[in-house]
Amino acid sequence: MSIFSHSAYDKHEQVAFYQDAKSGLKAIIAVHNTNLGPSLGGCRMWPYADDGEALNDVLRLSRGMTYKSAMAGLKLGGGKSVIIGDPRKEKTPELLRAMGEFINTLGGRYITAEDSGTSVADMSVIGETTEYVSGLFAGSEFGGDPSPSTAYGVFVGLKAAVEHRWGKTDLTGLKVSIQGVGNVGFRLGKLLKDAGAELFVTDIFQDNIDRAVTELGAIAVTADEIFDLDVDLFAPCAMGAILNDDTISRLKVGAVAGAANNQLAEERHAAALREKGILYAPDYVINAGGIIDVYYQQKGDYDAAEVKAHIEEIGSTMKEVFVRADETGETTAHVADRIAEERFGHHSVTGDTENKSGTVAA
Ligand code: NAD
Repeated sequence: MSIFSHSAYDKHEQVAFYQDAKSGLKAIIAVHNTNLGPSLGGCRMWPYADDGEALNDVLRLSRGMTYKSAMAGLKLGGGKSVIIGDPRKEKTPELLRAMGEFINTLGGRYITAEDSGTSVADMSVIGETTEYVSGLFAGSEFGGDPSPSTAYGVFVGLKAAVEHRWGKTDLTGLKVSIQGVGNVGFRLGKLLKDAGAELFVTDIFQDNIDRAVTELGAIAVTADEIFDLDVDLFAPCAMGAILNDDTISRLKVGAVAGAANNQLAEERHAAALREKGILYAPDYVINAGGIIDVYYQQKGDYDAAEVKAHIEEIGSTMKEVFVRADETGETTAHVADRIAEERFGHHSVTGDTENKSGTVAA
């Protein structure tokens, strides 16, 4: 397995590997860039098939955090960590405490938070052995959980997309399809419903669908039908790579704005959306509400009004992206990458700052 020549390496500053025989911990921390501040990104626990898969994931995710934080105007760099193992079977307090010791070895260059396979409660355990942990501040409105802030940021960014696409600020009667009504998707649905939108939802769990139908008055559709609906806007809030050759050819919407990470299957799909006249809100710009919340938790003087005001800046950043894309004829994804790179001072070996959209993750 190559490291420096790895396709996802992209000038990472540091990649650290750690093994603790006593607890069984096997983990990787990737620090992509610290130009703007210490790197912050979640700790994912996943039963990776092999070390190569874990390395690929942590490198992609860590790089994505640099772009996300830069676009969110945070004094943070990009980093991420992965624990190799099944969170339902192998997660123990000893293992999490060992993870805290690993994080300490980076001396504050990496700060962790919850991610897939880890929870707010797990962050408290990690916090027993390291101070470099966030997302567990009980004084924040939602006890450390960043999902409500992510949903609010998506709502703000979605409104910017509606204004740019249709020139209106009133969402009454806007038809929105939501793929995945989980932590973020359901809350986004609630905000949209309160603003007068009509909702169409799908999920792979029936109880999540039932909750959206009962509490939000949403119309339920199958997981496949969601792409064929005659609606105004599609909000992917489930999984990545959902904007691909198949789905883009079926979409009848005028805009895509949702929480999911890595929505574009490939870079070229941003251009495919543009060609169809579909306005795309770049994922890592619109879904930054959670990292903004976590940043203030980490900073230590959490003020809900200040956090909300910062999240609302997602709207103006999104407008900047849309306007610049119109002016230059580039895709919104490309423009977002370039603005982020201007902010964190990214220069590749060749001096080329070409688009890497579709590979940005967070
Ligand atoms: P979640 O697991 O709570 O919700 C995802 C929902 O999608 C679940 O209800 C799941 O059943 C559903 N789903 C999965 N596959 C599906 C499919 N094929 N069709 C329909 N529904 C499907 O996760 P979440 O925290 O709400 O995050 C949603 C997305 O937003 C993820 O891509 C996540 O990476 C991204 N994101 C989340 C946050 C956050 O703060 N939680 C921050 C940034 C980005």
